[in-house]
Amino acid sequence: MIQILIVEDEKPISNLIRMSLSRQGYGCTCVYDGNDAADLLEQKPFDLILLDVMLPGCDGFELMDYIRPLGTPVIFITAKNSVSDRVRGLRMGADDYIVKPFEVLELLARVDVVLRRYNKVDCLLEAGGLTIDTRSMQVLRDGVEIPLTRKEYDLLLLFARNPGTALYRETIYERVWGGDYTGESRTVDLHIQRLRKKVGWEKRLKAVSKVGYRLEL
Ligand code: CA
Repeated sequence: MIQILIVEDEKPISNLIRMSLSRQGYGCTCVYDGNDAADLLEQKPFDLILLDVMLPGCDGFELMDYIRPLGTPVIFITAKNSVSDRVRGLRMGADDYIVKPFEVLELLARVDVVLRRYNKVDCLLEAGGLTIDTRSMQVLRDGVEIPLTRKEYDLLLLFARNPGTALYRETIYERVWGGDYTGESRTVDLHIQRLRKKVGWEKRLKAVSKVGYRLEL
């Protein structure tokens, strides 16, 4: 699973980024302080860092000194009117920047482009007899496309990226639908049933008692 570190002290922005990226099947870690980010970077490798400029502790530019030797790609999150921040970030080796406030789709596109540049994303995923092309968002079995709704596709991708892992209903709901799972909704179960039939995963997509579902390959 691609791991993304989100360094942003504004909680609503941080939450929006985490939710949007999680729904795409990325693993996300949020920190709200520059020093915490530096500590975490020493302990754990990440595939991409989304880095705010103004942070408590040490700022985004100072953090670049920690990040550069690691070779981890960076997208700066900059304030609206700060051209100098953008230029400075790029000069320091950032791969891209995004300006607040941003559209989620733009964020996802930029993340996708940078990950591709570093060959972090394989756009063809093989799972359970299916080929998933994440660029064209097509799902094929033996070269024949299986038409899926957007939610079914997101659901499929989540399992394909996490094979062998028991995923909680709460997690599935949060990643695919966004928002909090109330525990009453049968949305997840109904969509899983339909997805199983459509892609022929009746025996692969197993229910895990009191948890949710697991893809067995
Ligand atoms: Ca900030």
